[in-house]
Amino acid sequence: MPEGDTIWRTAAALRPRLVGRRVLSARPAALGRLAGATVTAVDTAGKHLLVRFDNGLSLHTHMRMTGVWHTYAPGARWRKPERMARAVLEVEGAVAVLFNAPLVELTRHDDHTSHLGPDILADDLDLERVVRRARSLGDVPIGELLLDQRVSAGIGNIWRTEALWTHRINPWRPSASLTDDELSALFAWAHREMRAHLRGPYRRSAVHGRAGRNCPRCATPISVRAQGAHARLTYWCPSCQYQITGSSPEAPSGRQRASPRA
Ligand SMILES: [Zn+2]
Repeated sequence: MPEGDTIWRTAAALRPRLVGRRVLSARPAALGRLAGATVTAVDTAGKHLLVRFDNGLSLHTHMRMTGVWHTYAPGARWRKPERMARAVLEVEGAVAVLFNAPLVELTRHDDHTSHLGPDILADDLDLERVVRRARSLGDVPIGELLLDQRVSAGIGNIWRTEALWTHRINPWRPSASLTDDELSALFAWAHREMRAHLRGPYRRSAVHGRAGRNCPRCATPISVRAQGAHARLTYWCPSCQYQITGSSPEAPSGRQRASPRA
């Protein structure tokens, strides 16, 4: 699953091959208006990747689970079949190919990303602003709030799961029951750990993907259950991520192994 940091790495790999280069051709036909334009930037906004051009257009892509950008020398053999290509940008000295992405569109300005909160990977992440945006959404389960890209863009399922375990917070705990400092600490942790991950190897998950195995902290079997409108699989330790306030968690699903304490 590409999370914000994976998109960030992709952008870093594309920049030296695209920025400052003129587009010789662009496919499919819907991208034809890019021919002749020069790439001015490759930006990320959370999980969105934007290739910007000097004619005011941006190529907006969202990778979801499957999308991947490759770059090749002109004439080099591609590592995936051409029929999987969703966008092909041929510039001077390189060909960039986007495979399998579900969203590819040309936009002007930032129409489709202006609703996004600050990028969690930004150098100068403004945590007070993130907390204000979190509060503006009202009282929602903290596990859903961390994934809400309007609060802060780029935190994916793995990182929010691990952030909550690290801070011993139950994913269904209402956000209104957390202090501003507690909220800020969760986003600060994601910011720090995701940035560290850009430079190093994948860290081992404590709870994500480990349903039924022992919590590394207290040895209680880890639970899993779908959370929120998008039914994102949520892993947590029912012992050390206890429910602090009276709000009851969602009805248990078949995947559940143990109940959080009410
Ligand atoms: Zn535990």
